Amino acid sequence: MPEQSSDIGALVRGIRTAVSPFRSVLRELHGSYSSVSDGTVADYIPELAGADPAWFGIAAAGAADGQLFEAGHSGLEFTIQSIAKPFVFGLALEDNGRENVAERVGVEPTGDAFNSIIKLDEGSHRPHNPMVNAGAIATAALLKGDTQVARLNRLLDMFGRYIGRRPKVDVAVFASERHTGHRNRAIAHLLLNFGMLPPNVEEVLDLYFQACSVLVTARDLAMMAATLANGGVNPLTGERALQARYVQDVLSVMYTCGMYDYAGQWAYEVGLPAKSGVAGGVITVVPGRMGMAVFSPPLDSHGNSVRGVAVCRELSRRFGLHCFSSAPAADGAQLPWPAPGAATSPQPA
Ligand code: GLU
Repeated sequence: MPEQSSDIGALVRGIRTAVSPFRSVLRELHGSYSSVSDGTVADYIPELAGADPAWFGIAAAGAADGQLFEAGHSGLEFTIQSIAKPFVFGLALEDNGRENVAERVGVEPTGDAFNSIIKLDEGSHRPHNPMVNAGAIATAALLKGDTQVARLNRLLDMFGRYIGRRPKVDVAVFASERHTGHRNRAIAHLLLNFGMLPPNVEEVLDLYFQACSVLVTARDLAMMAATLANGGVNPLTGERALQARYVQDVLSVMYTCGMYDYAGQWAYEVGLPAKSGVAGGVITVVPGRMGMAVFSPPLDSHGNSVRGVAVCRELSRRFGLHCFSSAPAADGAQLPWPAPGAATSPQPA
């Protein structure tokens, strides 16, 4: 009986989680970084300013089995903000194909802040990449749907496939962004001026603000990252969230452009595709193995969560997760999920 077997599956996962040393590692990191008090909570969107700097959650989910490990406030809801961008890019690729999307947005890192207003490619007038606001607004304009409501529903359905439940929009944050998003409005009108946006600028902006205002938890984000790590299929529901051929496109822009103007340093030190958002979320994908997420609102000068960066950096170092690492983890630390293709027993020579 399917219900009984899924109960047993959940029970087995629960027991494995409870006894896993990885759970202790997440709890240890949560404990040691809780005392970090650097960074400031974003307040340029007024509704975000009320976040408690002490909120701190960590979650990791297996790519193959969806097994979840958590510490701290991993079930607390917050707005996804810029972490929506790679997922919206994925939907735009599915809706339009790679070539059509490439006419509207490039894939070059800018080295500029996320809300940079000036950098459009001189020749094509395309935004440099879908991870900066200009690129994300151009990407939002590419989503298919006959009406504004239809486009929003498709967006929420898409997030629902990654998370395993359909999320809601935080209406207060959406309204707050809408009222104060003059810079994003200016970016959109500049894009309109260059023929890179359709004339329904306000509708496009609303969809962009709604995407940023989707409510998620660190647990949800870990499952979204695990879905990307699993080739686009949600490991718990088995539902495909993104066509396999576009997964590498999404992960590539996350790798090169996901961490604002810290992306190069991040690639160098952590070496994994990632995306952060100004509400304090960070997601990181370990392809084939796991997705992880941290939520902690205080941000550094680049706009990345201070504790989020620290936890991901530490996990990458401890478990040897840098994608170009050829050395084993220093103390033989092992994730609960083996590397794809890793030998589990000695192979014959
Ligand atoms: N909605 C935010 C904005 O456009 C997203 C910023 C972010 O998370 O980087 O300003």
